[in-house]
Amino acid sequence: MLYIGSHVGFNKSNQLVGSVKEALSYGANTFMFYTGAPQNTTRNPIIDELTLEALSIMKENNMDYSKVIVHAPYIMNLCNEEKFSFSVEFLTHELERVNQLGIKYLVLHPGSHVGQGIETGINRIIEGINMAFQNLGNNNQVTILLETMAGKGTEVGTNIQELKKIIEGIKDQSHIGVCLDTCHLNDAGYDLNDFDHYLDEFDQEIGIEKIGCIHINDSKNEKSSHKDRHENIGFGTIGFDTLISIIYNERLKDIPRILETPYVDRLYPPYQEEIEMIRKKEFNKDLINIIKNKANNT
Ligand code: FE
Ligand code: FE
Ligand code: ZN
Repeated sequence: MLYIGSHVGFNKSNQLVGSVKEALSYGANTFMFYTGAPQNTTRNPIIDELTLEALSIMKENNMDYSKVIVHAPYIMNLCNEEKFSFSVEFLTHELERVNQLGIKYLVLHPGSHVGQGIETGINRIIEGINMAFQNLGNNNQVTILLETMAGKGTEVGTNIQELKKIIEGIKDQSHIGVCLDTCHLNDAGYDLNDFDHYLDEFDQEIGIEKIGCIHINDSKNEKSSHKDRHENIGFGTIGFDTLISIIYNERLKDIPRILETPYVDRLYPPYQEEIEMIRKKEFNKDLINIIKNKANNT
């Protein structure tokens, strides 16, 4: 079965109920959200009544809760010495929130080593994740998925070997995995036209069963650009056919596919139209105009 969804909102008053309804409006059967603004660490308490209500809406709509993803705020950086204890504490609270929501996966950007070197960066990430897991003790059900990064600045986790080193250092092997991001893989230098080759290498080094989620994005930039700028499906350098073959790759079936493509004119979510296009496996070059027109008519 194809599990496809997008990034959706999660606000203070409606919480998961709002997220589920937004996902349904796009024709999605899964979704990903931040438990607060991605660029800051202000977080409100989770209201269990809303979670239960959301669960019943999901059940009515045959949505599988185990495919839902939370993304940790991207300003967290376990490699930054000054912010290390803050980041560990925040990661601990984030894991607690995701556990409270009953969600299985938390996507985490490994971090940026900010000049201390990859090795030091990797060691800090390992240490930080181990400490956060230790803080939760036996209460943790959440798997952290390290995201593959584009290699912007001093990002760690740009290739299979770096992710492998981090994973090997994690004590709780049953709660660590990887989230692939097609835009990031392209920008990091992997040839997505030969995605099976990437999966072979990943399987040899880490094990394909560690992949828990795939972010599906086209890229505004060429392979190896190390830029990390997402583009709408079929409108970037990766292209529609390559993305479709990744989305429908049998070796990754049952793993949620999440769109993080840009809003049209920064205002209009493209997800309903993109999901439709993906289900039909047919590129619509007028997609952006159709979204603009629809927005103008409502
Ligand atoms: Fe991300
Ligand atoms: Fe991503
Ligand atoms: Zn990105």
